[in-house]
Amino acid sequence: MQKSSTPTLHYSKTPFTMHVLLLFVDGLGIGERDPARNPLAKFPSPFLSIFKDAPLPQLPYGGVVIPTRADMDVPGLPQSATGQTAIFTGKNASKALGHHQSGFPTPTLRRLLNESSLFKSVAAMGKTGVFANALSQDYFDRRGERISATTRALLAGGFPWLNMDDLRDGRAVSHDLTNEFLRSMGVDVPLRTPKESAKILASLSQRHDFTLFEFILTDMIGHNQEMAEAETIIRRLDVLLRLVLTQIDLHDATVVLTSDHGNFEDLSVKTHTHNLVPTCVWGSGQKNFVERVKSIEDIAGAITKALREP
Ligand SMILES: [Zn+2]
Repeated sequence: MQKSSTPTLHYSKTPFTMHVLLLFVDGLGIGERDPARNPLAKFPSPFLSIFKDAPLPQLPYGGVVIPTRADMDVPGLPQSATGQTAIFTGKNASKALGHHQSGFPTPTLRRLLNESSLFKSVAAMGKTGVFANALSQDYFDRRGERISATTRALLAGGFPWLNMDDLRDGRAVSHDLTNEFLRSMGVDVPLRTPKESAKILASLSQRHDFTLFEFILTDMIGHNQEMAEAETIIRRLDVLLRLVLTQIDLHDATVVLTSDHGNFEDLSVKTHTHNLVPTCVWGSGQKNFVERVKSIEDIAGAITKALREP
């Protein structure tokens, strides 16, 4: 048999670029496998049907789930403003404030975000960051200082926000992945399928080092206890995950899904829950997350490490 004469190819190594896509899903905890209360038991999802009274599943596309504390060692029910500030800064926001804070960041939380935003770390590393959700000038005019933790985290890094033209032209998404909410508010944007929005999100992630997406319908459905609506939302997240995990090259990317507190997983109560939240991780930075993440304030550090060291 003739020996192959094919020369060994030596590819010159280009500077390694590691992408991180953070899918922040508001109000999603790890509940009991009880279809009367937990929509993730009633409408099984290959990605999100994770239960505290069942073994942890191996997720599709090699994902792992890390059950993550959201209480920050502070009594009371975890809330959004403190939980999100913790995720986007790596600081124990509830301890800094002395309690869990709902709604939008207070002055103390704004200071934490301005000083320690994940986007600020991304910028300091000379990397690019983007918040995939489109915003409008009207949003800033109406809300003044009371903007969302995600938006403040972005601005603290000095990155521009994506606007309604970006959304119309397929360079941004809306939180519901369909644009239905904005259309109901009279904004002139096209309806999109969750799959179309997921493609836009995957493309943004491929063009930026760090990409953040915020999904809030889980928390809204949890507060409204809408079991009938919950299936639509689970399927929407399934489509999103399936698309980004097949479109993004997981050899040089990490995809992370996490939440600020439980809610959606127990529709028997209107409030948030004390449950752990799932931090689901796919791709090359997975080991780093498994080693570091115990609580939601550990996530920002794991993200900056993943961006720095492939
Ligand atoms: Zn809530």
